[in-house]
Amino acid sequence: MSEHEVDVVVIGLGPGGEYAAGRLAEAGLAVAGVEARLVGGECPYWGCIPSKMMIRAADLLAEGRRIPGLAGSSVVTPDWAPVAHRIRAEATDDWDDTVAADRFTGKGGRLFRGYGRITAPDRAGTPYWTNHEAIETGQLPESIVVLGGGAVGAELAQVFGRFGARVTIVEALGQLLPLEEPESGKLIAKVFGREGIGVHTGSPAERVSHDGDAFTVSLKGGQEVTGERLLVATGRRADLASLGAGTVGIDESGRQIPVDGHLRAAPGVWALGDVVGQGAFTHMSMYHAGIVVADILGEEHHPAEHHAVPRVTFTDPEVGAVGLTEAGAREQGITVRVGRSQVPSSARGWIHKAGNDGFIKLVQDAERGVLVGATSAGPAGGEVLSMLTLAVHAAVPAQRLGEMIYAYPTFHRAVEEAVHRLS
Ligand SMILES: Cc1cc2nc3c(=O)[nH]c(=O)nc-3n(C[C@H](O)[C@H](O)[C@H](O)COP(=O)(O)OP(=O)(O)OC[C@H]3O[C@@H](n4cnc5c(N)ncnc54)[C@H](O)[C@@H]3O)c2cc1C
Repeated sequence: MSEHEVDVVVIGLGPGGEYAAGRLAEAGLAVAGVEARLVGGECPYWGCIPSKMMIRAADLLAEGRRIPGLAGSSVVTPDWAPVAHRIRAEATDDWDDTVAADRFTGKGGRLFRGYGRITAPDRAGTPYWTNHEAIETGQLPESIVVLGGGAVGAELAQVFGRFGARVTIVEALGQLLPLEEPESGKLIAKVFGREGIGVHTGSPAERVSHDGDAFTVSLKGGQEVTGERLLVATGRRADLASLGAGTVGIDESGRQIPVDGHLRAAPGVWALGDVVGQGAFTHMSMYHAGIVVADILGEEHHPAEHHAVPRVTFTDPEVGAVGLTEAGAREQGITVRVGRSQVPSSARGWIHKAGNDGFIKLVQDAERGVLVGATSAGPAGGEVLSMLTLAVHAAVPAQRLGEMIYAYPTFHRAVEEAVHRLS
């Protein structure tokens, strides 16, 4: 094997790695990018983009079904073929990263394909799906069990349900979207129940079997659920030992790589994105990449802050959240005030009528008088989140939020009511 001397080696060209590697190459550094799968990582090929295409299609079906009573009549006939085609042709180029790879090498980077010290993941056992198979499928399953009620599991469960599959979602913890407010979990469970999705929470799966045709998942307590397919959506985790993190003094037994405010993990080593453990989101990876690039190039930059991390679960209704949950704030010893409002009882929610489920919940640090967390669930909940992210990020006094003008009749007017209800 030939040896190459470079200024920077970027291991893993996910959204953040690709961005950082490209920027550093453009800045004139000799950069080697090492990628085991596809340049661009999880988000464009098996994550955010294709899953949001699936969700867009499923939401269209749901909107079509909402026409009766509001605008006439409708007959909705789901067809998975255009979804699969769009993902294959428009989103992933048939899972071909030539464009992204050329973009990187066009900036002067050198691309090395391979796992380095990574070994192929263990795929033995039953033929379950991960998000890769779920995104790549050309065929809608007749029935599916989704293990894991986090964002990925909830989003894909609703998509498959709306296309006509019999869906059962199993979550070990006590609520769907377990990292979010209990109200968020309850709301999504209520909507899923209405849409015919089976929901089991507080039900760890104890055993999985496959008889050649179908999966049977045995839950704690003796219940069994079955499906033609099993989607494991219980979270991906970094394999630090395979990465060789120990050779630079990083604890390989941990789930994440500890970093300082400049994302430095060890002398000459930076970490960014999912592996840092501050939230597995593409926007986090891109945010980190900007800081890493600036630090390597010796440019002035603001250290990383993680007090206002926004995240959106793209179910219908969308669940947007930022910062701390109420329980999380209390755990940190913060004296908490909470304000809530309901989207259906806002003017816009009432006008919207079908598909208007949602709420706003604000978590205030009573001593500082600022919001430290917020949830915006509802139609366009992820968009309404933007003003709440700004409020938490910039520590805008809640009093000032109560004094501003909110356009009528918008979904974000529900924020005003929640601000006035802080107690
Ligand atoms: C179904 C699904 C939907 C999602 N939807 C959203 C969403 O709507 N919004 C959002 O913000 N996030 C979403 N995410 C999360 C998002 O995809 C990730 O947070 C994001 O891709 C993480 O970026 P990253 O830079 O940390 O690296 P990743 O995208 O995880 O990429 C890491 C890359 O490194 C490579 N690699 C790892 N180790 C090595 C090694 N030793 N040698 C060589 N290569 C290596 C891998 O092959 C991979 O390509 C979703 C995820 C899934 C699964």
